[in-house]
Amino acid sequence: MLHVAVVGSGPSGCYTAQSLVQQDPRVRVDVLDRLPCPYGLVRYGVAPDHEKIKSLQNTLRTVLEHERVRFLGGVPVGPDGVPAARLRELYHAVVYCVGAAADRRLGIPGEDLPGSWSATEFVSWYSAHPDSPGLPAPPSLSAPAPERGDAPADGGFLRGVRSAVVIGVGNVAVDVTRMLARGVTELSPTDIPHAALTALAASGVTDIHMVGRRGPSQARFTTKELRELGALPDTGIVADPAELALDPAYPDPSALPAPQRRNVEVLRGWAGAPTSDVRRLIRLRFFLRPVELLARAGRVGAVRFERTVPDGRGGVTGTGRFEDVEAQLVLRSVGYRGVPLEGLPFDAAAGTVPHLAGRVLRGGAVAPGEYVAGWIKRGPTGVIGTNRPCAKETVASLLEDAPALAGRDVAGDPSAALRAEGVEPVEWAGWRAIERAEAELGASLGRNVVKLPDWESLMAAARNAGA
Ligand code: NAP
Repeated sequence: MLHVAVVGSGPSGCYTAQSLVQQDPRVRVDVLDRLPCPYGLVRYGVAPDHEKIKSLQNTLRTVLEHERVRFLGGVPVGPDGVPAARLRELYHAVVYCVGAAADRRLGIPGEDLPGSWSATEFVSWYSAHPDSPGLPAPPSLSAPAPERGDAPADGGFLRGVRSAVVIGVGNVAVDVTRMLARGVTELSPTDIPHAALTALAASGVTDIHMVGRRGPSQARFTTKELRELGALPDTGIVADPAELALDPAYPDPSALPAPQRRNVEVLRGWAGAPTSDVRRLIRLRFFLRPVELLARAGRVGAVRFERTVPDGRGGVTGTGRFEDVEAQLVLRSVGYRGVPLEGLPFDAAAGTVPHLAGRVLRGGAVAPGEYVAGWIKRGPTGVIGTNRPCAKETVASLLEDAPALAGRDVAGDPSAALRAEGVEPVEWAGWRAIERAEAELGASLGRNVVKLPDWESLMAAARNAGA
């Protein structure tokens, strides 16, 4: 038997585990996650109203329920948990599928003003990530409320906000824009935590500006996601034809690659169209680069943008002309970035672990038994399905190395060794107990499944496994 640890239970971790057990009947896989819940960004990144994408959890579930796969939640790897070197001793091979956990920074004055958040912070809040501040324990649980500092129940995102600016035009920007515009009728059937539902339902946001520094033909969102913005109830879309036309490809997009051509076509359809009597407007803006967040009464009050023009090489140059856009809420949605994991090499410029077809490289040489897959391997790009071929490549490398790796003596049962060292994993039964508690919480609120939003509730539910 070859005993492999996969670190991270998001799509890349699950696809790696799946590929390993499908391709070799002699492989056993432990999928470790620092959270007690599996599925990574499918649970904590995909927006709650994207129920079809979320249903991918059912596919990932079959992987984690495979007889030669075991889920070990609540096991952090690194300095605050199991050191990478110890993991390497316990298993024949370790595959790191830890994603890209940090946000890119804008590096402009005012970025850290109250009211300015990374999109990830907002996503974590409405996704019930247990590390998100501002989500109180759900009302039906008797567990004592966790320490949350001074964060108010609405997470502090929406109070007093009329105008929001979303910086960036990728799919995360589209997600947060759409969530800001969603109403209670659309959100209450989802698994959104109750406090976030209540806050979004009560929100007074009337204007959401989604702003790109380049042109419509360089936007990173996908057309399906863009189109969804036009189908939101009680919401209008504003796009200025003169601004869009700064893009040389706008008048005739036919020469663009299909994904960009379709985006431009959708925007052309919206440009200049009158908006009927709606509750809120999504304003799609282009050729504006953020230069400063301006304070009003100690919080963000506006974003100052410099108008840009295309430079003829796919980039833009500044014009020295500026525009201030009112904003009591700023969501910086400018991409993720990988973070170094202690004990593993790291390419700080790329935000990835150096590798050769998934084999970790230390000082340019292959480190036997250490692998990477997903965003920590290739950077934060692509859709969920992109992780499948990425994981397959890594697994092909690992299985090629298997004869050499299998010769080393490792712990018979690594989880028993971990327990002996004081680690208490949440196994599959614990996760199933969390699922039951989320169904019960939903029923008590007259909703479907509702996510538990804090560590205490999750761990209390997990401890009920077998009860
Ligand atoms: P992204 O696709 O890389 O988009 C980042 C956006 O931020 C770009 O518009 C970029 O503009 C802009 N940006 C970067 N630095 C900036 C700066 N200093 N000032 C102003 N704008 C700046 O990142 P993402 O939206 O976080 O998405 C990450 C990945 O997850 C993508 O592959 C995405 O498709 C995927 N995802 C998919 C879905 C879905 O399928 N529904 C949902 C969410 C996320 P430039 O192009 O000019 O750099």
